[in-house]
Amino acid sequence: MDEYGSTGEGRAARRDEAVRAAVEQGLLGPDTPVVGLLDVTGIRESAAELRAAFDGVTAPGTPVLHAFAVKASPLVPVLRLLREEGIGAEVASPGELALARAAGLSPDRTVLDSPAKTPSELREALALGIAVNADNPQELDRIDGLMLPHSPKGMGGAPMAVSRSPLGIRVNPQVGGGSIGATSTATATSKFGVALRDEGAREWVVRAYLDRPWLSRLHAHTGSQGIPLSLMTQGVAETYALAEEINRRIGRPQIDTIDIGGGLPVNFASDVTTPTYAEYARALREAVPGLFDGRYGLVTEFGRSLLAKHGTIVARVEYAKSAGGRPIAVTHAGVQVATRTVYVPGSWPLRIAAYDAKGRPRSGPEVVQDVAGPACFAGDLLAEGRALPLLDQGDYVAALDTGAYYFAHHYAYNSLARPGVYGFAPDHSAPDRAGGVRFATVRDPQTLASIVAESGGAHAGALTTLHASGSG
Ligand SMILES: *Cc1c(COP(=O)(O)O)cnc(C)c1O
Repeated sequence: MDEYGSTGEGRAARRDEAVRAAVEQGLLGPDTPVVGLLDVTGIRESAAELRAAFDGVTAPGTPVLHAFAVKASPLVPVLRLLREEGIGAEVASPGELALARAAGLSPDRTVLDSPAKTPSELREALALGIAVNADNPQELDRIDGLMLPHSPKGMGGAPMAVSRSPLGIRVNPQVGGGSIGATSTATATSKFGVALRDEGAREWVVRAYLDRPWLSRLHAHTGSQGIPLSLMTQGVAETYALAEEINRRIGRPQIDTIDIGGGLPVNFASDVTTPTYAEYARALREAVPGLFDGRYGLVTEFGRSLLAKHGTIVARVEYAKSAGGRPIAVTHAGVQVATRTVYVPGSWPLRIAAYDAKGRPRSGPEVVQDVAGPACFAGDLLAEGRALPLLDQGDYVAALDTGAYYFAHHYAYNSLARPGVYGFAPDHSAPDRAGGVRFATVRDPQTLASIVAESGGAHAGALTTLHASGSG
C-alpha cells in the first residue's frame, strides 16, 4: 500500500513533513513543547491492509469483523476514522465502551472482553446486544442469570428479555509466552480466560456449550508484542480444534464464529512493517485451513499493529547539558507519554529521530547521548546512550512508532499535562502552505484547570474539615 513498497519510506517522508509543518504552524513551540501526531494516511493504509489480508484467505461471503482493540488508542476520532474504514471495536471497560459509542460504533460492531466485568456492565452489554466473551465460570454464571430470567441466579432487578448478544467463552490455550512477560496472555498461569490444559477445564468448556445453546462463539487472544507468529498461529489452531470438538459433540455447528484476538507484533526497529497482516493471514490459512472454509465467521482484535507505526511523539529540547562526560538532552517527552519505555527500557526501546529548531531532520556526526524526559526521577530517560546527531537547545526529538499504547496512555507523574494530539494529512488544497500538511485536533492539550479539577480541586478542604465526629 505504501507508495514506496513495504519499506515504510512513504511513511517516514510524511512524518518528516509533519514535524516541520507542526513547528511552522505553531502546534509545537516553547509553550507547547510536546505533541502527539497521527498519520491519517498511514492509519487508513493499515486498515485497508488488514481487510485485504483476511479477504484474501476467507471463503467468499464469510462474515469477518475486525474489532480494533480500543485500549491501543482510546481516542474517539481514531475510532471514528477506523469505523469509516470498516473496523469495529473491542472494548474492555465501561470507559472504552463509552468511547466506542461516542465514535458511533454500533453494538453489532462491538465486542466486550475484560477479565473483570461487573454485573451492571454485563447487563448493559446484553441489553445493547454487544458481543461478550465470558472470561471464567463465575462470569458465565452471571450471564446465565441474565439470559435465563427465571434462574435462581437472577441478578436482582427486572429479568431481561433474552439478549441478542453473540456470546462466547474466552479460553487460554496455554501455548506459552513470548519475549515480554507482561504481554504474554497464553502462559500456564495467565489471568485471562479458561486455562484449557488445566485438569477438567476442557471438559468443563465443552459441557458449558452443551448446556447453553446460546453460546455461539469461542475466543482466544494468545498474546501481544513479543509473541512470535508461530505461537499466535498455534493458539488459533488449538482454539479452532476445540470449536470443532464442541460442534462435533453437540452434533451441530453451534459455534459459528471464532474470535482469534489480536496481538500481531510491531517492528520497532525500523520503518519496515513486519510481520504484515497478509503474512499472518497466510500463516493461519496454512496451519488452520478449516478456519477459512466458510463454516466459521471470524472476529479479529488487532490494536498495536493498526496504530503503532502511525503515531509520533515530538518534544522540544528544553536544555542541552552534560554530566560525567555524557551529553544529555532534557526534553518534554518522558515517563508521562512513554511509560513502558521508561520503566522497562529493555523490552520497549523506541527509535528517536532528531530535528533542528525549524523541524528539519538534524544532520551532523552522531554522538552518544541521553534523551531525558521532564519528570523528577533519574530514570526518566526516553533513550539512554543513544547515537544521534548532537542535540541542541530548541531542537526537537521524535519518539517513533508511538501511535499505540503511548501518547494516548498518559501517566500523571509530576502532574505533567496530557499533550495535544493532532492528526495530519497532505494538504492538496494549499501545497505551498507550511509544508503542505493539514492538521486536525484529535485531543486538546490538558489545561492546568483540568489538572487541578482531576486532583481534587473541588474538595480542597475535605481533609482539614474531617473531624473524628461521633467517635468521641
Ligand atoms: C490487548 C488486547 C488485544 C489487542 O492486542 P494488540 O497486541 O494491541 O493487538 C486484543 N484482544 C484482547 C482481549 C486484548 O486484551
